[in-house]
Amino acid sequence: MREFDYVIIGGGCAGLSLAYELEINDRLKDKTLAIIENRKEYKRDKTWSFWKVFDHNFDDCVIKSWNNFTINTSENSHELTNQKFPYQSIDSGKFYNKISSKLSSNSNVSFYKNLNEINSKSSIIFNSVFQKQLDKSDLWQHFQGIEIETPKKIFDDEIINLMDFNCDQRNGVHFFYTLPFSRNKALIETTWLSNLEDHSLRDYDLQLENYIKNNLGIKNYKINFTEKGAIPLFYPSFRNDNKLINIGSAGGMTRLSTGYTFLNIQEHSKYIVKNIEKIDKMKKFNLGKKYHFLDKVFLRVLEKHPEKMPKIFFNMFKTSSSTIIKFLSNKSNLIEDINIISKMPKLIFFKALFN
Ligand SMILES: Cc1cc2nc3c(=O)[nH]c(=O)nc-3n(C[C@H](O)[C@H](O)[C@H](O)COP(=O)(O)OP(=O)(O)OC[C@H]3O[C@@H](n4cnc5c(N)ncnc54)[C@H](O)[C@@H]3O)c2cc1C
Repeated sequence: MREFDYVIIGGGCAGLSLAYELEINDRLKDKTLAIIENRKEYKRDKTWSFWKVFDHNFDDCVIKSWNNFTINTSENSHELTNQKFPYQSIDSGKFYNKISSKLSSNSNVSFYKNLNEINSKSSIIFNSVFQKQLDKSDLWQHFQGIEIETPKKIFDDEIINLMDFNCDQRNGVHFFYTLPFSRNKALIETTWLSNLEDHSLRDYDLQLENYIKNNLGIKNYKINFTEKGAIPLFYPSFRNDNKLINIGSAGGMTRLSTGYTFLNIQEHSKYIVKNIEKIDKMKKFNLGKKYHFLDKVFLRVLEKHPEKMPKIFFNMFKTSSSTIIKFLSNKSNLIEDINIISKMPKLIFFKALFN
């Protein structure tokens, strides 16, 4: 069986981002790479959105960028603007195409369906596949989004609605998210923060239909694309050794309070490639201990007081747009952290510290 210098298990967002970063930095000229991916075909399956707080390799896969966003509860609406850090959405279909065509020109890169097709005994392995079944009773962000197209130009495509809590909460935390790609096209998602055992929350089609009709006042539309997902808001235990480096969601790249992962994956890929010669000896990359701690406390409050979350999220955004963006993108400084923490209800968070 063929041997490889590097093996990437899972050719999704993290696996392909890393392969691309290796390729464009000429790290695959005299090294071989096997990508183990079991999907039948690559097609658009996700829309990755995030605040662009640093440059990444995929500007040509961006569907749209925005500088304005709102957050709503049933009582209030708050609008923020930021020119420095645009919010961007990436079309995963374009991302897969771009990377596949770049890698196809390098004969040192091969794709396989299964790890047992190669000899990986002396390879450095980058793994993006969860090693065991994750706990459904823990906290997840689960959602379904549809891209709709309307015959008339009805959307304001200069502004996104990041969180709209003006909807049925059903003893959980529930919001809608609207990204207008153009005047007549938008991605609308219903999002829950809850365990995955309560199936009554998963009538997503109906939730979307009602929201589009009753909240957005849209009756006539067609659906171009559907995406569905569940992101664990907890870090599973990982096997990490010198020759096995976990990447992507399986490597702790998801920010637990938000589910944002895409840009963290890009940062991790750059870190790996920069240190590739000595990666087996390097300190494990993480999003920052302070965010682990703050998110843990935040999610404890969320689990205990779901009914308070719309107001808590709303108040969090009552700061400067750069402060909240940097905080949610793990780039805030101490003063910005204190600013965000000061918006939280003190007693509830203080109690959560000792749970
Ligand atoms: C629908 C959806 C929308 C999301 N939107 C956002 C967003 O807007 N912003 C954001 O920051 N994050 C978002 N996320 C979270 C995160 O960015 C994505 O989940 C991202 O794809 C994570 O990358 P990954 O490489 O860890 O996992 P994946 O992209 O899922 O890659 C894992 C790969 O492993 C393959 N695989 C699985 N099992 C095996 C096996 N046994 N053998 C071989 N291959 C296998 C899979 O086919 C897949 O290609 C979203 C997630 C989902 C599901």
